[in-house]
Amino acid sequence: MSTVSETYEGTIEREIYSAPQIAGAIEQLAARIAADFAGQPLLLLGVLKGALYVVTDLARAIARISDGPSEVIVDFICVSSYGNQTRSSGEVRMLKDTTETVTGRNVVIVEDIVDNGLTLEYLHALLAERKPARLSTCVLFDKPYHRRVDVPIDYVGLQCPDEFVVGYGLDYQELFRNLPYLAQLQPWVFST
Ligand code: 5GP
Repeated sequence: MSTVSETYEGTIEREIYSAPQIAGAIEQLAARIAADFAGQPLLLLGVLKGALYVVTDLARAIARISDGPSEVIVDFICVSSYGNQTRSSGEVRMLKDTTETVTGRNVVIVEDIVDNGLTLEYLHALLAERKPARLSTCVLFDKPYHRRVDVPIDYVGLQCPDEFVVGYGLDYQELFRNLPYLAQLQPWVFST
């Protein structure tokens, strides 16, 4: 039986953002969101699976800020985007809807990464139909190079190079989500 570190060994081409750099970006996002929703209730809606760490770290960072929202509720929506191995087609399938009611609430959609924008556009349109009081979008990693739609992003954490990246929730074939940093994989990984 091999360990996780043995499975990952030799697969990383380079580290793009370290764990402390990501933590710093989350703190900055939290500060902006906390200020914008000061004194108001907030529903953080994480998009699974990729945003699992972003939304949990963001929720705790907001809790450390005084003068922030009056309450923070965390919920998840789970979608899968069809496409090839490294690019989504925008054909989105809903795997799990929200548990919380969106209507009349302040909702921030929390995404891991935006590339062509089709997944976020789908989610934004879907949730807007439910008439939230306010609907905002927060993305930790932005890849603006192949955008196909002009989806509004209110809070952007870090610019991501035009590469397929893994770590901090982002996977390749379900692996690498638990890497604590953002990384580019070695080319041979994609041919196995
Ligand atoms: P979009 O629809 O904006 O092209 O892509 C959104 C989804 O595609 C993300 O939520 C993520 O699941 C996936 N995705 C886009 N770029 C990357 C990437 O570089 N690495 C990984 N692992 N997933 C990505």
